[in-house]
Amino acid sequence: MSRILIIEDEEAIADLEKDYLELSGFDVQICNKGDEGLQVAMAEKFDLIVLDLMLPGMDGFEICKRIREEKNIPIIMVSAKKDDIDKIRGLGLGADDYMTKPFSPSELVARVKAHMARYDRLVGSTMKNNDIIEIRGIRIDKTARRVTVDGVERAFTGKEFDLLTFLAEHPNHVYTKEELFREIWDMDSIGDIATVTVHIKKIREKIEYDSAKPQYIETIWGVGYRFKV
Ligand code: CA
Repeated sequence: MSRILIIEDEEAIADLEKDYLELSGFDVQICNKGDEGLQVAMAEKFDLIVLDLMLPGMDGFEICKRIREEKNIPIIMVSAKKDDIDKIRGLGLGADDYMTKPFSPSELVARVKAHMARYDRLVGSTMKNNDIIEIRGIRIDKTARRVTVDGVERAFTGKEFDLLTFLAEHPNHVYTKEELFREIWDMDSIGDIATVTVHIKKIREKIEYDSAKPQYIETIWGVGYRFKV
């Protein structure tokens, strides 16, 4: 039976979520405090975590970050404030989904099921030797040539995918546009280093929360680009 951990300080909400999830066949455990929730999440095996943002003991930002450092399981973050949801997306903490309270328990159940199915597929495909790079919220499946950002699949052209993958495979290494052009494009392809700039811009539009303040691909002025970890 799949196990779900709910970290939520509002007991009525936690109980309601638990009831609905149990009716759908999940084994559910609740923690009402943030620091305890993190401990339990680290110590035991869960298949998914529903994580509230504002919690006593430790907030959801910190908990999400700490869990992500160790575990790859789906995390659904919930908050009463839409602004907070935008903020957590911006931080790229690696949550898989976000919900604004109040939401209907059946909506939660639907999302839990969807994330578990997707996670099973990803883990299954990983076991069949899919070559996957994961950096914070970005997951690049080199075998399937698919990219997801915070759990949402994004479409990339062939060269965009190659460029993103090359940078992500060499994190913190600064490459000049000339080097990137040579690496990704054939010597006889038409184009120049401006092509690199255009492709970086397109990639940023797909992976960055705010292209003007990139969290992943940094511009090193006068030199080139690097994938920041
Ligand atoms: Ca709360």
